[in-house]
Amino acid sequence: MVEPINAFLMAQSQFDHVAGLLNLDPQVAEMLRWPNREFKFMIPVRMDDGTQRVFFGYRVQHSDVRGPAKGGIRFHPAETLDTVRALAMWMTWKTAVADIPLGGGKGGVPVDPATLTLSEKERLCRGWVDQMWRNIGPRQDVPAPDVGTTPQMMGWMMDEYSKLVGQYTPGVITGKPVGGGGSLGRTEATGYGVIYTVREAMKHLKMDPTQSVAAIQGFGNVSQYAAIGFTQLLGGKVVCVSYWDREDRAAYTISHKDGVDPLFLQSITDIYGTIDKDKAHEAGYSIEDGGEWIAKDADVLIPGALEGQVNAETVKRVSERVRLVAEGANGPTTPEADEAFKKNGVFVIPDFLCNAGGVTVSYFESVQNDMNYYWTREEVLERLDTKITQAFNSVVEMAEREQVFMRDAAYMVAIDRVVKAMELRGWL
Ligand code: GLU
Repeated sequence: MVEPINAFLMAQSQFDHVAGLLNLDPQVAEMLRWPNREFKFMIPVRMDDGTQRVFFGYRVQHSDVRGPAKGGIRFHPAETLDTVRALAMWMTWKTAVADIPLGGGKGGVPVDPATLTLSEKERLCRGWVDQMWRNIGPRQDVPAPDVGTTPQMMGWMMDEYSKLVGQYTPGVITGKPVGGGGSLGRTEATGYGVIYTVREAMKHLKMDPTQSVAAIQGFGNVSQYAAIGFTQLLGGKVVCVSYWDREDRAAYTISHKDGVDPLFLQSITDIYGTIDKDKAHEAGYSIEDGGEWIAKDADVLIPGALEGQVNAETVKRVSERVRLVAEGANGPTTPEADEAFKKNGVFVIPDFLCNAGGVTVSYFESVQNDMNYYWTREEVLERLDTKITQAFNSVVEMAEREQVFMRDAAYMVAIDRVVKAMELRGWL
């Protein structure tokens, strides 16, 4: 058994490694390896049976030097202050590498949202805002959805904030429902962004997407649209996806000999990402243990679930055929697994580049909120493709120029932009 990773220590060690490569001033490095601000608060919620239950909420603002802090809120039972810190720090690098004028933040509540009723979820969301509203805002810190949170929840949070400040303020939060201040294309943005980076990486590696097979971990928002994108936009085959079964409290890998049909699977998946396995069985799918996705005979691996999934143990099972790893999730690969990929010449598209599509369309959403004028889905996705392709190219150029691994190159591009903003603002 490998020790469970501490995501924040992992984020700091990735940063320290690149700070060393860049010869960063130790004081500047110290400022960047810790969050600017952290909030921990209590959220009392009236449950449907009349009892009162206390939840804890977190918000970490890692950096706002390039613009308002930006990043999602996760509702997940394993959330801790350290996971939120790590994710907040990765958001700073993500917005910098995507070159959007925002900083990095993240929020969380340790809770399994599937155990709450709709009205309890609404009260929890409103309660989170009641505690944080003075420290978030379109020019301060702009939350968004992440694991366990949905557009509807963003809608409630925006409404609560608007009531508290006394004016309609859609720009306080992104990932809102379309028609309620949301942007077309936001739902598919992260998964499609992953696929735009895969497309560019395949060009770079001279791989033919139509002859390629991908194995995907997870079937939440990111993985669903990565699977749809891989099959529909690139014409490749997805051999499997995996998912967390809420009733069985177990993860499964689900595959089909002819490749999975992501739209069919999506049609039998609930809002928490649990696939109806009886219906999948009837349609000829095979179901195995949740860890099997990583051992599939594939050219591309897309870990699109949680952090630490590709680690010293699981990386040993990766097929020799794998040439490309596209990190749809945040922090899926531990430093030990990174070393194994480096050694075997596997090309890794690092998380904060690979999954930057979500926050990029979040940025477009806030721009549209400010203008009070909304773009078509085609306009949004075209602008997204341009941004992600530019970000990918700037990282590949850095990797080639400095002869470094893609993750280090992405860090170099991002840290450089953040430090430049610190200089320009007179912080250094
Ligand atoms: N939660 C997403 C991420 O990790 C999106 C953040 C956002 O849209 O602000 O990138």
